[in-house]
Amino acid sequence: MSEAFHRDFSERSGNARVRSLRARRKHRKSTNRLSIPAPGWFPVAGAAIGFALILMLVSVAGKPVDARVSADQEEWLAAELPLAVEVGTAPRRTVLKPGDNSQAALQRLGFDPMTVQRIIKAAGKVYPLARVRAGHTFERMDHARNIDVYYHVDATTRLRLWRRADSQTWQASLSQRRITRRQHVASATIEGSLLAAAARAGLDDRTAMNLVDIFSWDIDFARDIRKGDRFRVLYEEQFDENGKSIGSVILAAEFVNQGRHYKAVRYEQQNGRTHYFTPDGKSMRKAYLKAPVKFSRISSRFQARRKHPVLGYTRAHRGVDYAAPSGTPIHAIGDGRIVFAGWKGGYGRFLLIRHTNSSHSTAYAHMRAFARGIKKGKRVHQGRIIGYVGMTGLATGPHLHFEFRLRGRAVNPLTIKRSPARPVARVEMARFRQQTAPLLSHLDNMPADPAWG
Ligand SMILES: [Zn+2]
Repeated sequence: MSEAFHRDFSERSGNARVRSLRARRKHRKSTNRLSIPAPGWFPVAGAAIGFALILMLVSVAGKPVDARVSADQEEWLAAELPLAVEVGTAPRRTVLKPGDNSQAALQRLGFDPMTVQRIIKAAGKVYPLARVRAGHTFERMDHARNIDVYYHVDATTRLRLWRRADSQTWQASLSQRRITRRQHVASATIEGSLLAAAARAGLDDRTAMNLVDIFSWDIDFARDIRKGDRFRVLYEEQFDENGKSIGSVILAAEFVNQGRHYKAVRYEQQNGRTHYFTPDGKSMRKAYLKAPVKFSRISSRFQARRKHPVLGYTRAHRGVDYAAPSGTPIHAIGDGRIVFAGWKGGYGRFLLIRHTNSSHSTAYAHMRAFARGIKKGKRVHQGRIIGYVGMTGLATGPHLHFEFRLRGRAVNPLTIKRSPARPVARVEMARFRQQTAPLLSHLDNMPADPAWG
């Protein structure tokens, strides 16, 4: 026994480290099988116990075990640290779908209904899980000593829920990423395209598309943009700890389209919902989007009679044609239910939506394809992609034929009254004015684009 001890000890010089690591790994395997260690492994067992003690001390101190930090102090620890990592499992994630809720999401992560209730109760103290949103994620991580659940509230805020492996008590805390924000102003006059003007003003495409979305209930960006239209924008860009841009949000914007001024300001209501409003508190959102496609050039306006391009004789053209590249997404302009989705003669692949106001319906024709999940009877929400531009049926080129129907008869979409969504509640008007005034004055006082009159 003592001979074996000395042999092992003497070997630790020279190339012994590698061998001793191998021995320690072997030791781990053998203890896993609950066999009794051979006498020669005593020093090794001592090292393993020492390591375990240090691991415990580190955990008691409340700091996470960090392989890099420990290795600097005790080189031999590095080879052992995977022990701690091996016990944990790969994180499990689940993304919330529309109509989803936190109970269902937590159960998908493997928690039983009783545990789910405990988690939700614990969370309630810092962030009510009834407020979760579609598109956000839950994440579960099982470690040796605790189970962690993360909910990503937004790009900067994370909710952590955890319990120790030996306890049923869940705890909750919110943490903030260190985000820096910078405000920018930009303005431009449109010469060729909106995106070109935006790029000239220093806006990335994402911010430019956000600008389009804000005004998409008032302006038909696909056919009504003209040379000389102009905009100005106050936006905030966010950067992570490494200075990488992680997003931007428009705080206030003005768009002048064919001489008409539209102004919007971002406001988080007391109920936590953020929307864009006019400076006097009316919602920018309306029952119908102005157009079912985002960008294109118009090929035909609404008119009572015209020569049909394919059939060659005059017949009423009761709709608006959007010439757009094949495959351009088509959006439902309002909430409703699909009452027809299929082939309909000269209309080709055709879709009809009956809206919440049941005397209103919209028709979409010549589609190349329907979007996934689109079929008769299905409910759709405003903005949802329902299909793609094509040239099925009687069409000379790829375009969307769009109709707005009033009690089944196609009418000029411009004549439809678009009632806005709920305005800022009267009781919070003072708060609205106080919070939006600085943004609007920043927008109004920004250095003017030379062409801005
Ligand atoms: Zn048409």
